[in-house]
Amino acid sequence: MSGPFAEGDRVGVLTTQPLGKPLDYLAPAGGCGIGDFVEVPLGPRRVVGVVWGPGEGDFDAAKLRAVARVLDAAPMREEMRQFLTRAADYTLTPLPAMLRLATRAPGLGDPPSMQKIYRRGTGAPDRMTPARARVLDVLESYGGLAFTLGEVSAQAGVSTSVIKGLLPSGAVLEEDMPRDRPYPRLDPARPGKALSPDQAAAADRLRAAVTAGDYGTTLLKGVTGSGKTEVYLEAVAACLSKGRQALVLLPEIALTAEFLSRVEGRFGARPAEWHSGVTMAERRRLWRMVGQGAAQLVVGARSALFLPFRDLGLIVVDEEHDSSYKQEDGVLYNARDMAVLRASLCSAQVVLASATPSLESWANAEAGKYARLDLSARFGAAELPRMDTIDMRAEDVPAGRWISPSLRAAVADRLGAGRQSLLFLNRRGYAPVTVCRACGQMIGCDHCDARMVEHRFQKRLVCHQCGESKPIPEACPSCKVEGKLAPVGPGVERLAEEAAELFPEARIAVLSSDLFASARELKAQIEAIAGGAADIVIGTQLVAKGHNFPLLTLVGVIDADLGLQGSDLRAAERTFQLMRQVAGRAGRGEEKGLALMQTYQPEHPVIRAILTGDEEGFWRAEAAERRAAGVPPYGRMAGIIISAPEAKAAFDLGNRLARNDGPLRSIGAQVFGPAPAPIARIRGRHRVRLLIKAGKGTPLQAAIRAWLAPVKLPSNLRLTVDIDPQSFF
Ligand code: ADP
Ligand code: ZN
Repeated sequence: MSGPFAEGDRVGVLTTQPLGKPLDYLAPAGGCGIGDFVEVPLGPRRVVGVVWGPGEGDFDAAKLRAVARVLDAAPMREEMRQFLTRAADYTLTPLPAMLRLATRAPGLGDPPSMQKIYRRGTGAPDRMTPARARVLDVLESYGGLAFTLGEVSAQAGVSTSVIKGLLPSGAVLEEDMPRDRPYPRLDPARPGKALSPDQAAAADRLRAAVTAGDYGTTLLKGVTGSGKTEVYLEAVAACLSKGRQALVLLPEIALTAEFLSRVEGRFGARPAEWHSGVTMAERRRLWRMVGQGAAQLVVGARSALFLPFRDLGLIVVDEEHDSSYKQEDGVLYNARDMAVLRASLCSAQVVLASATPSLESWANAEAGKYARLDLSARFGAAELPRMDTIDMRAEDVPAGRWISPSLRAAVADRLGAGRQSLLFLNRRGYAPVTVCRACGQMIGCDHCDARMVEHRFQKRLVCHQCGESKPIPEACPSCKVEGKLAPVGPGVERLAEEAAELFPEARIAVLSSDLFASARELKAQIEAIAGGAADIVIGTQLVAKGHNFPLLTLVGVIDADLGLQGSDLRAAERTFQLMRQVAGRAGRGEEKGLALMQTYQPEHPVIRAILTGDEEGFWRAEAAERRAAGVPPYGRMAGIIISAPEAKAAFDLGNRLARNDGPLRSIGAQVFGPAPAPIARIRGRHRVRLLIKAGKGTPLQAAIRAWLAPVKLPSNLRLTVDIDPQSFF
């Protein structure tokens, strides 16, 4: 591989090691080029890096070490280097940490490896047995497809020696196939569904934008079931027809089962998948193939944004408002915003799809930065559910119960009609609080400032903050009195218990992320429920995402007030989105659904807006409030969290930073705090928070960088900067 650097030239190599900037090396025999993936010696080790540019240090050339080798991978493109640099600047993340996100596939430097595969040959077996017949049957039943040994043996239910025994006769052929092979071709020319006039108009606009081939972002808004997916798949088709690659980001692994088969139905083959459930070998294959353009469409979680696409022409961010797009540990980035950045650097289109867009995207569309397309009606017969509140002040609900008589009657009605009901409560576990009735103490986590949540299915108390768990004790940890611990408040498990008592004949299913060992199990359960395997579904926010339950005609929201409490800037917005989404579950089939919200404050503006369906009204009111307060998206914010084993050390640094705020003041920014973070202790570390508010359009990152530059962090202190914080813990 040759490049602008000849053997012995000084080159700068960026590695994934936390060293800040590129290090100088000498180009290897054969030279190298900018963007080449290389292996370089670092101390006693060899690490992967990227040739970032000419070397610039004044380190003695005689002492420089040479690049060990250039890896057999498509060089990192200029636009990707720019993307990583800009993303690092924006999030105040060291560049090596960004590069790590872009190289998250194992064995990048390994030579291409081969895999033995088996297919039907023309020979006849010397002798036929039932086991052999089954092997040939499997190999013939998929039209000449090749399998691995493990696949054939599992499908035919035979040992591998049976398969190998068929080789000498030529009845079965063994071949070598590269492990990193291209993905099946998707055919964008296959016809899509016949679109409604609304859908067709939106699809036309997106197709035109993709075909033009430059950057642009479109907010695609439409209620759940209005056909947003159908519409953006047309944009994907246009992109593939142009020979460019497309990426569809989804918030939850659970979404992909249904989604992948839809893509297959549309384009005749499955797309490449990228998420935490994908095997290491498959990750490597995808990373390499995407770089060669041999994967046309990737469907993935947020980190798929950092894959080395050769020619990315479209990024769809489905459910763009979803808070899981914000990575909350490691590199703190928002995949929705980074998608826009990446697209702007590679002349791609972005489609942000949602029934309930974030206020940020709504405001960007209002300001004309994004185009906006609205799908008004639900497709076909399905309509939005009717919505109503149940005023809990007027309901007679016994202590320790949460299902009101009105809601109970509505569920009974669906049961009689053979329809499904969903009871929604966004709280995992049995009870959020366990209190001792002898001394009044609530059981807290030993390491965090959080209550332990009882999980009765697992027979444990769990801290939802740090994951610490312990068996449910007999005696109170404080006063040692036995048998006095009592659950307070409901979680989904407790609600399931109540529902079972009220409706002993009903089949009840609980959908909560902690009750499933794997995403696969969860998918299976969701599919079973969609097929009618339950009468009453009890679920957390997991069910608010885009699953289709055709038999579901009633949604009961157990505590509509839950999300309205707390100091979070986005509390109202989140509640609004969640309620609308949950309500959207009811009546996706032929029948009209009903959504009932139990609330103690039916006159609250958010509850009113949900009921009347006046979304634009809700957003305008919310926008006005945030504009008046100068908070995002009408102002800028950053959170600084300092954590330390001792609270005092964290406060000392926080106070020092707050006093020396010159660089921030120079751009008109204000510092608030230090104050104990809303969760003041996590995993034994005390947390102190500073909040920075600045005007829209101010150079906040540069000011923060200058402000933090003189800080020398002692090794036991940690400081993280969160630009545009989403959650305020
Ligand atoms: P959204 O993404 O807005 O929730 P979907 O695209 O998933 O909506 O559409 C909801 C359901 O309606 C899906 O089952 C989809 O296949 C169906 N659907 C939407 N538009 C059409 C159409 N034009 N023709 C046939 N079925 C459609
Ligand atoms: Zn804890």
